[in-house]
Amino acid sequence: MAQQQAAPVAVVTGANRGIGEEVVRQLADRGHLVVLGSRDRAKGESAAARIDPGGERVTAVQLDVADPASVTAMGEWVADRYGRADVVVNNAAILYDTWAQARTADLAEVQRALDTNLFGAWRVTQALLPLLERSPRPRVVNVSSEGGSLASMSGGTPAYSVSKASLNALTCLLAGELRRYGVLVNAICPGWVATDMGGHGGRPVREGAAGIVWAATLPDNGPTGGFFRDGVRVPW
Ligand code: NAP
Repeated sequence: MAQQQAAPVAVVTGANRGIGEEVVRQLADRGHLVVLGSRDRAKGESAAARIDPGGERVTAVQLDVADPASVTAMGEWVADRYGRADVVVNNAAILYDTWAQARTADLAEVQRALDTNLFGAWRVTQALLPLLERSPRPRVVNVSSEGGSLASMSGGTPAYSVSKASLNALTCLLAGELRRYGVLVNAICPGWVATDMGGHGGRPVREGAAGIVWAATLPDNGPTGGFFRDGVRVPW
């Protein structure tokens, strides 16, 4: 009898609402077992129940990416519960600071953005690396933004832009270092999406999430160390 392949395990951060919630839904639909990270446990459990009322594919876990103890606890919980992790989607982010300018920016605010948008993704990836390196098909997706593209950066949203440019740099470093383990690491811009962060007028979460799920489910010969929107390369 052919050996059945275990369902891949995916961890999605900041997944109690917005694009993250939709990424969980789409990965669960594709047969992944999904760990829905939420800094508020009750909100995470509500989102998990919306997506998977039977609790067969989606499980909420308390995860504040800005809190090292919470990230460590999540890594241990995933190791105990599943013994594996195949996909990490670093989606959690804050502070789209449209009101600010680099020349007068409140640096404490910039630091707060870095702690979640850069160090949060870095911490979560490090916590899951021992599991990812053993996975047959490991993928890391850093949800970035063209707001972090150096090619078009010309002022405004300093905390957010610097944090996303830094996340892009981390993407390149990890992709190079993890290539030998077959880990594909990419930065994805979801485009302008109608969420609490994106506001009205953006495209539906379904479309923004699709490009992220594309990167989470790349074949083994897929790209690594790239920056994409809707599966198409965009300039760093
Ligand atoms: P959103 O609606 O504001 O949702 C952000 C999510 O991140 C929430 O679940 C929030 O949890 C969570 N979060 C924030 N800080 C966290 C922390 N320390 N630990 C864990 N979770 C945390 O944002 P979104 O529009 O869905 O954005 C998702 C991703 O897409 C972000 O990386 C964003 O930068 C990127 N993006 C969005 C757009 C857009 O147009 N929407 C465009 C480009 C890129 P709480 O509910 O607890 O606050």
